[in-house]
Order: sequence, then C-alpha cells, then structure tokens
Amino acid sequence: MPPRAVLPAGVSSTSFARALGELRKVVGPAYVLADREELAPYRKLMIPAAEEEHEPSGAVLAASLEHVQGVLAVCNKYKIPLWPISTGRNLGYGAAAPATRGQLILDLKRMDRILAVDSVLCTALVEPGVTYQQLHDHLQERSIALWLDFPGDGPLVGPIGNTLERGTGATPYGDHFAHACGMEIVLADGRVLRTGMGSLPGSASWQVFKYGYGPYLDGLFTQSNFGVVTKLGLWLMPAPAAYRTLLVRYWDDQGLAAAVETARTLRLSGTIRNPCRLSNAALMLTAASRRAELYQGSGAVPNNVIFAAARQHGIAPWNLTFTLYGTSEQIAPSLDIVTRAFEASGGEVVSDYHDGSQSNELSLSSFSLLDWVGGGGLAWLAPVSPARGVDAIRQRDIARAVLGMYGMDYLAAPTVYGRDLHHLTAILFDHDDLQALQRAKDCFRDLAAAFTANGYGLVRVGIDFMDQAARSYGETRRDVNRALKRALDPNGILAPGKSGIHR
Ligand code: ADP
Repeated sequence: MPPRAVLPAGVSSTSFARALGELRKVVGPAYVLADREELAPYRKLMIPAAEEEHEPSGAVLAASLEHVQGVLAVCNKYKIPLWPISTGRNLGYGAAAPATRGQLILDLKRMDRILAVDSVLCTALVEPGVTYQQLHDHLQERSIALWLDFPGDGPLVGPIGNTLERGTGATPYGDHFAHACGMEIVLADGRVLRTGMGSLPGSASWQVFKYGYGPYLDGLFTQSNFGVVTKLGLWLMPAPAAYRTLLVRYWDDQGLAAAVETARTLRLSGTIRNPCRLSNAALMLTAASRRAELYQGSGAVPNNVIFAAARQHGIAPWNLTFTLYGTSEQIAPSLDIVTRAFEASGGEVVSDYHDGSQSNELSLSSFSLLDWVGGGGLAWLAPVSPARGVDAIRQRDIARAVLGMYGMDYLAAPTVYGRDLHHLTAILFDHDDLQALQRAKDCFRDLAAAFTANGYGLVRVGIDFMDQAARSYGETRRDVNRALKRALDPNGILAPGKSGIHR
C-alpha cells in the first residue's frame, strides 16, 4: 500500500474513503489524488514554514463548472475543507499548499480556456487554469495588439490566481484587481453568481462595466474564502505605438526619499502612468552575482561591500525604473519633464533602458533572485505606506535593522503605485537547512511586527501568517469577515484560514 496522506480534521478514514469514491464519480478516477507521493507537488513550499503543517489530504482536479459544483456537494456532505487553487504557483506566499493541514486541494488548472478576447473593447474572459504565457501566445498568434500585465513569475502563473490575491505588475494596468471586470463564482452551496452586469440575462456588458446594480461584490471574492471563482473578465492594454523605459540611479543611499517624492508627483500628475519601482543595490545585484562570491563573513553583507560590487555593474544604491507610453510625439515632451524632475532630485537619468516586464515581454529572469543564497527559500513581505520619502526611509531602516539581527540581507523594491508605496522585501534562505529555515521564520515574524507597529500594514502574506496579519487589522474587521463566511459558507468548507477567515 502506498503511504496514505493525512486526513481532514474531524473526518474519519471511512468517511474520507467514501467521499473520495464519490469525488471520483464526479471528476473521473484519474483526477482524484490521495496517495502521499502523488501529492508531493502540492506540498512543496518556498516560504519558511513546515510542510507537515500545510499538508493536503488529497487533490481533486475539476475540469468544468459542473465538476466544481459536484465537488462542493460532496465536501458539504462530508464536511471536508477544500482549498481552491488556479495555477497553484503562489510561490513566495505558499504555492499550492493550504493554510491548514488536511484540506483537500481543488485544483482548477484543467479549466484552461480563453473564452473570449475582444480586440475592439480590449477585454478578455478566462478560466482559472489560463496562464499569462498562454494568453500572451494566444494574442501573438492572432496578431491582436493587446498587452498583458503580469507579476514577476509571469509565465508560470495566471490572471485568476494573481488577481484574486490582488497581485501587481509593472505596466499602467499593474493593479490587477482594478483591471478585472466581472466574475463567475460558484458559491459553497453550488449556486452560480455572476457579478457586475453578468447576472442580467442577455447583457453584453459583463466585461466592460464593473458595478451592475446594488452593492459591488467582487472585492469580497479576493483574498477570501467565500466562493470558487470559475471565470474572470480582464481589461487589457492597447499596445502603445511607442514606449520608452527609463532608469534613474541615485548614487546616495538617502536618495530613496527624493526618488519617492518625485515619482509620486509624476505619477499623480499622470506624466508617468505605470508603477515606479525602486530596486535596491542588493536586489539588482542578484542578477549578476551570488552572495558567496562577495562575502564570506558573518551577518548581513555590509553595505559598503554591496555598494562597491554593485557599482562595478553600473548599479546604484537605488535604481528607479518606469516607462513612458504613447506616440513618439507624446513621449518627447514627457521625457523632458521627467528628466528635469529626476535630475533636480539628485538622480542620474538613463533614458534608454530595457525592462520587459513594463513592455509585455514575459520572462523568468526574476528567478535569479533565488541564486543569491541558493536553497530555494523565499518569502515576500509587502507593507504599505503613503508614498512619502520619510516613510520609505523609515521602512528601509526598520528592514535593515531587523534583517541585520538575523544576518539577512536587505533586498527590496519599494514601489510607488500612486499615493501608496509598497515596500516589497524578500527574505531569502536555504530551505533545506533547518536552522536557516527557523531563522527566516523568526525574522519574518519580527519584521512583520516591526512594520505593523509603525502603522505599515501587510497586504499580502503567506499561508503560515494569515491569522497574524488578519489580527493586526482588528476585531471588528474579523467579525465582519466571519459573519460573511457564515452566511456564504455555513459548513465552513471553503479554504478555512484563508486570510485569517474561519467560520
Ligand atoms: P498563482 O499560481 O497565479 O500565483 P494560485 O493559483 O496559487 O495563484 O492562487 C493563489 C491563491 O488564490 C490560492 O492559494 C487561493 O487561496 C486563491 N485562489 C486561486 N484561485 C482561486 C479560485 N479560482 N477561486 C477561489 N480562490 C482562488
């Protein structure tokens, strides 16, 4: 007998076996996985958490809305918790694994149809298994001049998983939820809700107007466990006639403040339309070298070592990138305005830079980050603050101090989206080294606590940290989430613990 996987909490092995039998009838025997070995891909974690604590009891691979309804009916009957994933590569946040041990994975990657692309209205309608690469290829093959916005691991992941996590990208459509329009959701009791204009019979406006009539519901189904999303409408960016990507280097570590002030002003005036990403020297260096090549001592790599190595590659302590989009006639005056503004703020402007993430080029280059220490451990922290220089500096100092206590390097990309700054910070470690894993876990906890204590809340965290993050937003908010959960999923079968929401 192959080793059995864990059981869902409170479910006997007899009931579970019976439930698996019924699930096999719903999706087909080949699409219910329950042997521990088969489940290995769903267990693999990059975040600093123990795989045993997030071990799934099985996986069901649904291929249609009817399958999803059938699976929900079985799980309601046997009170089996179900963790939906789309492409399941939520890498720095927990990949495919559930928030708590024993949940059954509802894997939706077989639902991978691109249902519609409207090249006139610049919209698409996709299923959960569609990846950005698949959608990109679809557009290229048909010479449809629409651009995608995707996260760093773009080719591997997809619009539904990323948008439901409120992920971000690098073009003017970088706020993914803001550029989604219309959802189809299977509720826990099997009913199907189409949001926005989608509930109106005969409506042709599902992907063009978000709100429909009455309360705007879509947000409830992001970072939540209130339903299974089976379709999502997307707004796509018309390919611009021209674009120009710029790099602004600040050779002084304090230049971070002026960079943020200038970026915010130009974002809010509309001169710059995409997020301004400020990568620090260490983060940029990961593309060119490994930590061990630069430093063998104890503790974090000293700043002077990082800065000296970075300079050899033309990398400054702070490196801001953004893109001007439009026609060449529109770009020319904007180029003058931004060049003057960034130079006046102390930056050195390189006016012809390349960053494919800002111009529809999918690549896996961001994974070079993992080579910095090696061993595959990664967790992201994304505290949000006002886009002000003083806040960016305070966050930098908090991050350096806490990471330094654990001998970890500060690798960060504070990004100005508009009025908000997200101080995206990576924790890298060797996942196979138990001590390093524990250190990363402690460091993450302390860094999260330090940001939160300073009023910088975390807006996306991994499966091991969801309760803590939710608690930091207070009891009333948790009570409201709980009330919604009880109303929409009375048996509490959908993804218990997601975003700290339990029944
Ligand atoms: P990606 O691979 O694009 O990074 P995932 O598929 O791993 O994204 O999804 C990220 C998270 O979003 C999942 O862990 C789950 O909590 C939630 N999620 C993903 N797809 C769905 C869905 N179709 N319905 C409900 N929640 C989902």
